[in-house]
Amino acid sequence: MNHYDLRARCFGPGLPPAGGAQTVQIQHGGLHFLDAQGRPRTRPLSQLQLQAAGFNDGHWQFRWDEPEGAWAIIIEDPAAQARIAAAPPPELVSLIQGAQGRQRRTRRLFSAGIAGAGVWMLAPLLLLIALIFAAKPLIGWGIGHISVAQEEKLGAWFWKGQKAGLRLIDDTDANLAIQAIGERLTEGSAYRFRWFIADDPAINAFAMPGGIVVVNTGLIEAADSAEELAGVLAHEVQHVELRHSLSQLAQQAGLRLVVTLVVGDLGGAGEIAARLTQLKFSRDAETEADLEGLAALRRAGIDPQGMVAMFRKLDTETGPAPPQILSTHPVTEQRVEALLQAMQGSAVGTVQPLPIDWNEVRHSLNKAG
Ligand SMILES: [Zn+2]
Repeated sequence: MNHYDLRARCFGPGLPPAGGAQTVQIQHGGLHFLDAQGRPRTRPLSQLQLQAAGFNDGHWQFRWDEPEGAWAIIIEDPAAQARIAAAPPPELVSLIQGAQGRQRRTRRLFSAGIAGAGVWMLAPLLLLIALIFAAKPLIGWGIGHISVAQEEKLGAWFWKGQKAGLRLIDDTDANLAIQAIGERLTEGSAYRFRWFIADDPAINAFAMPGGIVVVNTGLIEAADSAEELAGVLAHEVQHVELRHSLSQLAQQAGLRLVVTLVVGDLGGAGEIAARLTQLKFSRDAETEADLEGLAALRRAGIDPQGMVAMFRKLDTETGPAPPQILSTHPVTEQRVEALLQAMQGSAVGTVQPLPIDWNEVRHSLNKAG
């Protein structure tokens, strides 16, 4: 029976976020390792998953779930991988074939090109993200270890690709208005938000990781007051604050994203960035963004009735096609009800009308277009 001693990095409940180094054993049909308390543990090989992971799929990652959380044991050393692959335990034969197939495909992709200097400056961050993306059960846990500064860098990188596909409008009263409302809604935030207007009749707005918020001219036209627009902004801002955008991006784009960035295929990155406008969040995330958005409106002294009015308006908007924003944000009567209930539930603070002439704002867009 073959016996392997392997240097490994272990992730699991109680272990350091960046993983703990230890020597693990594969023998007698099991993977033997130490838990966070230093107790010997064994996982049957037949209950393991294996995937190629890491920066260029160079690592082997054994994974499994236990009631107390997800485990991952990573073998980084190619020589160790080769030793096992040469005489694999029967339980691991097909898993190893799968991982090696993936590694071969990635090597081909890598040899196709190497990224420019800009991407290499982000390499440490990408490495971190690659590790996180590689293990979906660890996403929530890993995201907690990305700093706001790192998230902003990542967002800025995507924004470069995204911007190319948008017609941005600058220097109008509408820009000033969005900025003023946005700043009021994000006072004291850890993020430095940036606000943009895209010349696009589709009724939509979206938020990118790191605090870049884009509002379409169509949404500004559809709003009948600054308060109504503030309602949508308050909601979008919360997708950033609550890191919905970051975790959705991680789940949807996964490791392919990182490979694309490293290979330097900007077209591919643009394609992934385009998905940012269509990030779909769970119903729970939407409710959370609604309620936290409502709280932010209150803190800012902005009348939350605008939010309710805007949601209702989007719901009843008719025309050749329903508003784009509804494809990612279905307005349900329950959602409006939940808002109304939350508004009744707490004391009304001081509300002051936003000092913005909304007709002037909309007019400034016509002049720009
Ligand atoms: Zn949303």
